[in-house]
Amino acid sequence: MEMKSCQTHVERALDEYVAKTESYPILTKIENDENLSTKCDFCEEPAMYLVGNK
Ligand SMILES: [Zn+2]
Repeated sequence: MEMKSCQTHVERALDEYVAKTESYPILTKIENDENLSTKCDFCEEPAMYLVGNK
C-alpha cells in the first residue's frame, strides 16, 4: 500500500496508513521532477511525500 500526501496532510496520511495496515510506514520526500503532477490523496495540491513500506 502506498499513499501520497502534500505538506498539509502528511500527518493524516501517516495516521490512515497506520490505521489500515497496523504498521508504521516509511516516509519518503518526493523530489523527482517527474512526480510534480502527482496529487495528494486528500486534496488537489501536488504531493510532497510518499507514505509506504519501501
Ligand atoms: Zn493534501
